[in-house]
Formats: sequence, C-alpha cells, structure tokens
Amino acid sequence: MGCRVSNRPAGRVGQVKEVTSLANPLVKDIRALALKKYRDQQGAFLAEGLKLVVDALDLGWSIRTLILAKSSLGNAVAEKAAARTVAAGGTVLEVSERVLGAIARRDNPQMVAGVFEQRWTALRDVRPAGGDVWVALDRVRDPGNLGTVIRTADAVGAKGVILVGDTTDPYSFETVRATMGSIFAVPVARATQAEFLEWRKRFVGQVVGTHLKGAVDYRSIDYAGRPVVLLMGNEQQGLPDALAECCDTLARIPQAGRADSLNLAVATGVMLFEIRRSALSLSPEAGR
Ligand code: SAM
Repeated sequence: MGCRVSNRPAGRVGQVKEVTSLANPLVKDIRALALKKYRDQQGAFLAEGLKLVVDALDLGWSIRTLILAKSSLGNAVAEKAAARTVAAGGTVLEVSERVLGAIARRDNPQMVAGVFEQRWTALRDVRPAGGDVWVALDRVRDPGNLGTVIRTADAVGAKGVILVGDTTDPYSFETVRATMGSIFAVPVARATQAEFLEWRKRFVGQVVGTHLKGAVDYRSIDYAGRPVVLLMGNEQQGLPDALAECCDTLARIPQAGRADSLNLAVATGVMLFEIRRSALSLSPEAGR
C-alpha cells in the first residue's frame, strides 16, 4: 500500500500493521468498543464506511485507527485515508474480511472502518444565537431514534443536539450507523435534567416543547426572530412536568387515525422542517 512507516518523516507518525487474528490485542480493543463501558474508558468509537471516514477526516476528527480490508488495498481513496491516518499519528490495520466482520459485528461489513476520538460539546458552550435551532432530547432510549434525529438535525441545518438525562449513547455502533455520517457534523452536548433547567434560565431564546397534550398547533407558532430549542419527550413517558414547565410553548402535532402518538424521530423531523419552513418563508435565500 501507499503509506509505510519508513517512508514518513520522523515525528508524529503512526504505523501500518497487518492483522489476521481475532486474538490480536489491537483487534480486541476495537471489538470492545461495542460496549459503552469501553467506549467511555477509551473515549473512542467506531464508524464504518470509506466515505464516512474521509468526511470525518475532512471535518478534523481525530482518528486513532483506520481498519482496511485487504480487498480495499489499491483503492486510491482508501490509500489516501491511510496516509492521512499515519501522518496524524494513527495506526492503520490491514485486516482480513473475517476480522473486519468481527469488529463491525456483522456479515458483509464495509471494507473500511475508523476508530475516532469522541467529541462532546460542553453545555456552557451551547449559546444559540440569531436563527439557530438546537434539539434537546429527554432521556432518548432508542439508538435508531437518536441516530435519525442527529441525521435529521444535520439535514435541516440545526446547530446541535442536547441529550438530557440518562440517554442512549450517541457513540454506540447502532446510533452511529443510523446517523449515516451526521454524527461528524452535528455537535452533541449532554446534561442532567437539573443542568439543563439551569442552562435554560440563561437561554434568552424560545424553548418549544412537544407534548401530546400541547395547547398549540405546531403550525401556528412563530419560530422566527429568536433562537429555538426544540424539546422532545422520552419515547415511553413523554416530557416530565419539570421539563414541560420550562417551555415557552407546548406544541402538538395534530393526528388522525388510531395511533396515539408519532414516533419520536418522526415527530422531531416534522417539527424541525416546520421551524425551517417558517424561517425560510421570511428569508427564502437562506434555503437550498
Ligand atoms: N406515551 C408518550 C406520551 O404520553 O407522551 C408518547 C411519547 S412519543 C412516542 C415521544 C415524543 O414525541 C413525545 O414526548 C413528543 O415529544 C413527541 N410527539 C410524538 N407525537 C407527538 C404529537 N402528535 N404532538 C406533539 N409531540 C409528539
């Protein structure tokens, strides 16, 4: 392959290793990232797919390990990603497809994966301004929902996601997969309910909560002029009173039929696109 340790200048350079055994300690460490305990310990997570890895490198994420299936050797984009990894001081593992499948924990894995350092935005640094939109999720449990919300927040141009209370991990394999790469584009902050409520006192924008008993039709709210925090409730229990009471408005999405509620990620998407629509109707040039 194109990058070898010996070809690199001295200093902060990584290494290229060939690995075929599942017993290899490097592979064991990466496989352990399937568990939250080890992700927390290592402050790292796994993302699969060449495009995703390249996007992450372009966005300045720190890569620790690039894992390449032998069959991807000779692919110019993969080779360039390997060279960037080595130059950044990371390790490149050339592995068999069996090892890659064991790392990704699935059959037919992607040919490339990367281990990246986790990034968290401190709540005190979340300072929405102008027309910024942030999404706050109360105790989101389902990794697919969280990943879909992060992806949708990215698609709508929201500035980030605040995880409130005990939530599923945005860096789990399932969540990262469901974000389809948006995990690298959307800042994520976390807070206890008490921390969020404290932060809310200093937030001068509008907090719009969503609630099945919300008094206001979501289409009749004026979202313009101030930053918006869209607050969504837990999948089973909805918003607890303490969070509902901190909202300026409780919005309801009118429904027909027998379903008693919308899926969390669907409701978030409906709300975000309505917020975006109302902002764009004021400044059409802001849209694409
Ligand atoms: N059983 C829960 C309850 O009583 O609230 C249902 C929660 S629902 C699956 C998850 C979240 O999606 C809700 O807390 C709310 O934030 C949002 N949501 C779902 N359907 C909604 C609707 N029709 N109007 C407003 N928010 C909705």
